[in-house]
Amino acid sequence: MGKEILTRCGYRCDLCLAYKENIEKEDKRQLLSDGWFKFFGFRIEPDDIYCEGCISSDCLTANLIDDGCPVRPCVIKRGYENCSQCDDFICEKLEERAVRLESIQEEAQEKIKRNEYHGCIKPYENIKRLNEQIKLQGQYSRMLNERIKPTEDIMRKFIELSQVIELWDKLIGNIESSYNLEKYIKYGGKNYGWELQYKKGRRTIISIHPERRAFTILFTFGRKELEGFNLVKNKISKKTLELVNNTRQYHDGKWIWLRVTDSTKLNDALVLLETKKKPDRL
Ligand code: SF4
Ligand code: SF4
Repeated sequence: MGKEILTRCGYRCDLCLAYKENIEKEDKRQLLSDGWFKFFGFRIEPDDIYCEGCISSDCLTANLIDDGCPVRPCVIKRGYENCSQCDDFICEKLEERAVRLESIQEEAQEKIKRNEYHGCIKPYENIKRLNEQIKLQGQYSRMLNERIKPTEDIMRKFIELSQVIELWDKLIGNIESSYNLEKYIKYGGKNYGWELQYKKGRRTIISIHPERRAFTILFTFGRKELEGFNLVKNKISKKTLELVNNTRQYHDGKWIWLRVTDSTKLNDALVLLETKKKPDRL
């Protein structure tokens, strides 16, 4: 099995025996067909089991097993990656696709065999998996799914809170009216997720990570920028000053992660941005 492929409802395509790549590697569709019937009560003949995965880039035309899923369109419409980011978790729609090992075990007449669990239940144990995501990410979850590349509009929508979207718009407006920078949407790895990055040549000026109800900016300050910061530190809030002072210094400087949720933090971010690079236009 390859890299994790988490669907909108919390299933794992990479573990699913119906997933085309897994069928190509080893065809275990008879086990799956029997397991689906035994544990979920529906029968699909092995030859008819074939799925291209519901977060494939062409998911509207892809060959899917569950093409009537009510969860996927709802998650996409709301601008999330999966249901763990939704305040209505667990709603009725998700409940229609919810899989819990305890409930299956309760109904089963006999002990579930190991290969049946791994092949026919584990890939779909979504409620446990989504709850783990909620615990891991906390209230400011990020866009972490490498397979779901967001547009700038989707990043904005993901924040959801209108007062924070306003701050996002002000920051982007300020950057684009005052600087000549190149803009990229980049994946920063599974711990950092998708970010909006502004660069001058190879030098990253600012990286902005959209989050639920906030966004977090990464500034990397080397020795020169830290000296510049000392000259403007009276312009920023006490909390941000503490953040900068308490950020660990490495040989190449400091990585300052500033979460913006209100206008004070946005003003601090603009001061740090000017410290990183003087505007090209005033
Ligand atoms: S059946 Fe569901 S979990 Fe399996 S590959 Fe298709 S979309 Fe993914
Ligand atoms: S409303 Fe339900 S299906 Fe839609 S995103 Fe929220 S939890 Fe998922």
